[in-house]
Amino acid sequence: MEANEAKEKILALRAEVEEHSRHYYDEDAPTISDFEYDRLLHTLLDLEERFPQFATPDSPTRRVGGSVSSKFSPVRHEAPLESLTDVFSYAELFAFGARVAESEPEAREFDVEPKIDGLSIAVEYRNGVFYRGATRGDGQTGEDVTENLRTIRSLPQRLEGAPERLIVRGEVYMARDTFEELNRRREITGEPPLANPRNAAAGSLRQTDPKIAAERKLDLIVYNIQLATREYRTHTETLDALRAMGFEQVVPYKIYGDIRGCVERIDWIGRNRDVYPYEMDGAVIKLNDLRARERLGSTTKAPRWAVAYKYPPEKKPGVVRDIVTQVGRTGVLTPKAILEPIRLSGTTVSAATLHNQDFIDRLDVRIGDTVWVQKAGEIIPEVVEVDKSRRPADAQPFHLPEVCPECGSAVVRDEDGVAMRCTGAECPAQRLRNITHFASREAMDIDGLGAAVVESLVNAGLVKTVADLYELEPQSVAALERMGKKSAENLIAAIAESKGRGLARLLSGFGIRQVGVKAGRVLARRFPDLDSLMHAELSTLMEIPDIGPVTAQYLLDWFAAPQSQDLIARLRAAGISFESREEQADTRFAGKTFVLTGTLPHYTRDEASALIERCGGKTSSSVSKKTSYVLAGEAPGSKLDRARALGVPVLDEAAFQALLEA
Ligand code: NAD
Repeated sequence: MEANEAKEKILALRAEVEEHSRHYYDEDAPTISDFEYDRLLHTLLDLEERFPQFATPDSPTRRVGGSVSSKFSPVRHEAPLESLTDVFSYAELFAFGARVAESEPEAREFDVEPKIDGLSIAVEYRNGVFYRGATRGDGQTGEDVTENLRTIRSLPQRLEGAPERLIVRGEVYMARDTFEELNRRREITGEPPLANPRNAAAGSLRQTDPKIAAERKLDLIVYNIQLATREYRTHTETLDALRAMGFEQVVPYKIYGDIRGCVERIDWIGRNRDVYPYEMDGAVIKLNDLRARERLGSTTKAPRWAVAYKYPPEKKPGVVRDIVTQVGRTGVLTPKAILEPIRLSGTTVSAATLHNQDFIDRLDVRIGDTVWVQKAGEIIPEVVEVDKSRRPADAQPFHLPEVCPECGSAVVRDEDGVAMRCTGAECPAQRLRNITHFASREAMDIDGLGAAVVESLVNAGLVKTVADLYELEPQSVAALERMGKKSAENLIAAIAESKGRGLARLLSGFGIRQVGVKAGRVLARRFPDLDSLMHAELSTLMEIPDIGPVTAQYLLDWFAAPQSQDLIARLRAAGISFESREEQADTRFAGKTFVLTGTLPHYTRDEASALIERCGGKTSSSVSKKTSYVLAGEAPGSKLDRARALGVPVLDEAAFQALLEA
């Protein structure tokens, strides 16, 4: 490669890596897999080594990724939080072993640990009491996330027999189960799924509201002493000490006398990733002797005494037995390949996502095909390639159905995307979402009735529509898994309490298109109860500020549907309050149009207009037959003549005042 070409490539790669770092570290939302990212960085490093004239100190190969958000106070790390040098082959690992042996021939012991894919943090204890915690940030300065860290159960608030000062490094992670549950809930509420547990953990810890961090159930595992007012000789001694002080989760370690031994352990961890509750993206190989470590020191970014062996994403061939259509809780149809079971990254895989019809068409996946399946840090295995040389003669192409397999309603393509969506309002697949929405904080605010509980109620056949909630019996709820008598009673009490939430919340809970929290409130200010809203004409609804003609029509359509009428009748029978709890808007001038002309003795034009609008009326600048009143002051213009000609009532300020006070 010519120098010029190398320079261009280096610059392009740097820009690309910087952009992905921003998505990953600052926004917690990567757009490529870690494996692809590591490859880019490796190519860049390789080029910079071959063409050192183009290496710069600010290259991402020499910096610890990430920045410090201004949402948090900065914390200067007393001992920097370094990164790790990656290796992708055993040859590179042996080369690392040889480098260490050359400088430190006496230090032979290496420790192998799983590399937890979470968020690196430093926690500080003073006299055994948790004092402060910070993210890695750029390695020198991190973000103060002490309050969020306090919500983590596995972080001890106090330690036994700790040195006076102690800074420990660890990884905050979200357990695989917790992550899957969180994504399941996000699917129900229509939010996009989070890419992987690492980003979920980072996003949760970097929230300014500790309540959210608490809800996300994060965990902490520690793996290093950064600073201590006590001497230790080996790394394993520090890990044992951390456990003795009361850290619940200390990284599992194993010691080997040479790199060869480490390889076996690395392989074992790679094959058994599923025994650990967290995701991992590699194994860390560390020199055990702390003094030798000190002598070896660090590069600008990573220590010379450790490396991270990165596992390639595992890919295996599998036969597509069938392709089925799943209707998600938001109504989206997703094709799924049913596979002859294969073992992949430590788990048995018998299905893989095909994303959408465009994806199937692009890869030309057919039933009967042999496909390559991959699990690349992301949880759901995906089909990445078709082995067309193994395609049987009778392989069947697949198309998503035109009607919903769950309810038979028409399926339409989303206006702005590739997703195909069921249009059925009563589609059982959407039931969960509707009920969860009804119970949510913005709507009826039923404590304890989150997505998981709704799901078990629906699965047990106890609830089909929101009206069923109000007929639940404590015994049948208590019989549900993970429920029990006390929680069942609490749930029933919370449901009963929601009966009095009032019209605004009820309307927003119905899930009528375009009628959310705000429209619910606007309507509840205009109508004293559900019945008067139900009997309102289209023109009346359209007169309400903030309710457009489209929303007005959605409201009428919704109230006219037989299933809505049925629902309302059942809610009425169950004693749900249909009354508005909002302060009622003044409607004395509703439907009335005023035209102003001339100068009024006491009001400016703006003040008079504001008064009219506050009473539900409208103002206009020209007089027509439809004008209700002309409000005329001193020196009126031609508008007054026109009003007289058309027979429109004319008011002076006193008459207007009298109307207002009536
Ligand atoms: P790294 O994650 O490869 O390695 C260093 C980190 O490993 C440390 O910060 C530490 O937090 C962690 N670690 C976990 N277990 C450990 C253990 N037992 N001992 C010591 N350390 C342990 O390096 P990095 O600099 O944090 O960042 C790179 C990572 O972020 C890579 O995995 C990379 O793929 C990913 N990344 C991805 C994208 C993307 O767009 N997908 C972008 C930027 C970074």
